[in-house]
Amino acid sequence: MWQAEAEVDLDAIRENVARLRSGTSAELMAVVKADGYGHGMVPAARASIDAGADWLGVCTLDEALTLRRAGITVPVLAWLLSPGLPLHEGVLADVDLSAASLSQLAEMTEAARRAERPARLHLKIDTGLSRNGATTADWPTLLEAAAKAEADGMVEVVGVWSHFAYADLPGHPTIDRQIAVFHEGLGLVERAGLRPRHRHLANSAATLTRPDTHFDLVRPGIAVYGLSPVAGERYGLRPAMTARARVMLTKRVPADTGVSYGHTYTTDRETTLAVVPLGYADGVPRHASNAAPVRLAGRNRTIAGRVCMDQIVIDCGDDPVAPGDVATLFGDGTDGGPTADDWAEAVGTINYEIVTRFGGVRVARVYT
Ligand code: PLP
Repeated sequence: MWQAEAEVDLDAIRENVARLRSGTSAELMAVVKADGYGHGMVPAARASIDAGADWLGVCTLDEALTLRRAGITVPVLAWLLSPGLPLHEGVLADVDLSAASLSQLAEMTEAARRAERPARLHLKIDTGLSRNGATTADWPTLLEAAAKAEADGMVEVVGVWSHFAYADLPGHPTIDRQIAVFHEGLGLVERAGLRPRHRHLANSAATLTRPDTHFDLVRPGIAVYGLSPVAGERYGLRPAMTARARVMLTKRVPADTGVSYGHTYTTDRETTLAVVPLGYADGVPRHASNAAPVRLAGRNRTIAGRVCMDQIVIDCGDDPVAPGDVATLFGDGTDGGPTADDWAEAVGTINYEIVTRFGGVRVARVYT
């Protein structure tokens, strides 16, 4: 018997990947970093591969090695690599590495020397996000060094890539600007004598809305999990995660009862309160206090009072509700219940954060 669970529908992940796959002739990298956006990295990876994903994308070397230890053999790219990591383990495990600076390139060359085989690299250019990636000013120098390392047999430059700042707002002028910078960067790649097979730029939003950004490979993340990267659009995706918990305790209380820390909610009549054993320690944002919806006893209700570390309280009025009843925080919405999008709106964040944070040690992850 579970107390709180995140149910993950792997068929939904398979359907979403198949849907993304059918919209492009490029290869598809399912992004499964951050524990598969909270859905479980290895199960999400396997479901994505079942549905035709050719690649997996992660941030850390550890994530990539975990995929390999799980027996997953499809190409994996890891892209957030701080200095001093045992990158040779990645090279030996056939993990592709992202390089965005001369020092990263040097570390990868050293990793190749230790592993006694070339490191497979994807060179990252910053086309306008100003995050990971070499600036356009540093790009020619990086290419020159990479071409030399490739000629020396230390690396194989198999990819060139970048990431959008505004793909979630289709039509935003920075999208075309970033595409143009990417094309210029690719021109320099060719001039440096490099011939990477995998040019990639598109996240979920660009995969769904901008076929001209697909190049050789698309890198959807959030859409794999059935959530839309673009507010107000669904794109026929099916949310994979349902977050729920069983009511622990119910009680009748009179009007004017202050509820939870700080009494930020006060009952306006005699009513039944239901205590649900989930809190901010389980990834329920504290900003959900008096804001986010929960479906209980056939109705959507707003969390009453502050979200605590381990508990939330729901005001159920005179509706019949009993310990053991299921309170659904968010799911696919087909029963009229709230979705991660509803939570994101109520809390002032994005659906990514809602699913990625939900879970932790006390919430059972259950796969269907
Ligand atoms: N590529 C990179 C470099 C990312 O950091 C991410 C996610 O943040 C993705 C692709 C996938 O983005 P999305 O989840 O918006 O599809």
